[in-house]
Amino acid sequence: MPIQRDDTLTWIKDCAKAVEEKSSYLTELDAAIGDADHGANMDRGFKAVLNKLPEAGDKDIGTIFKTVGMTLLSTVGGAGGPLYGTFFLQAGMKTTGKMELNLADWTEALEAALDGVVMRGKAQPGDKTMVDALIPAVNALKDALQANQPINKALQLSAEAAEKGMEATIPLVARKGRASYLGERSAGHQDPGATSSHLLLKTASLTWKDIS
Ligand code: ADP
Ligand code: MG
Repeated sequence: MPIQRDDTLTWIKDCAKAVEEKSSYLTELDAAIGDADHGANMDRGFKAVLNKLPEAGDKDIGTIFKTVGMTLLSTVGGAGGPLYGTFFLQAGMKTTGKMELNLADWTEALEAALDGVVMRGKAQPGDKTMVDALIPAVNALKDALQANQPINKALQLSAEAAEKGMEATIPLVARKGRASYLGERSAGHQDPGATSSHLLLKTASLTWKDIS
């Protein structure tokens, strides 16, 4: 059975839990190359999402994702909020009216989400941003779709690809966002946004581990 509407609600709730657990770690990473607020930003955003979620509880998946996006846009400042807001809004546009998602639907939704982030933030691959975790994750999903993998396997492969992309941000010099103000000194640190992107995708793979 594909990913059901209720499964997407569980994922969002699990994301809120994961973000809360990793909040200080994300903030620590942002302290090294930014302004030490990424964990707090994400945690505030997802806590607001948890409050809003009941309003979308009986709606389609597109409405759920759009509600998440609107809430992140209106509660999280800085660069991360609008970018993750766009991420979920675009995923929501792609899934309008849907009550379940197969692997092709999820791949399309994530690709639209990534395209939205790139359109808004103008980051190129290798600029040391969340895009560096998202691009390999979307590519892994496309490959898995092509290879007819079951959903849980595809999600695991996309989370692993996001993890590699996240780790690969360590030696990079930042060319976007606050970290870019540091120039060469941003090298040697893992990007906070790539880390939170990996966290959301890893959470999807754990939440939906029994969906094939
Ligand atoms: P701020 O930088 O405003 O304090 P956050 O700390 O919440 O916002 O988020 C920082 C993260 O946002 C960075 O680690 C990076 O991954 C991501 N980011 C910043 N600018 C961009 C951009 N233009 N495109 C994509 N991601 C970006
Ligand atoms: Mg910050």
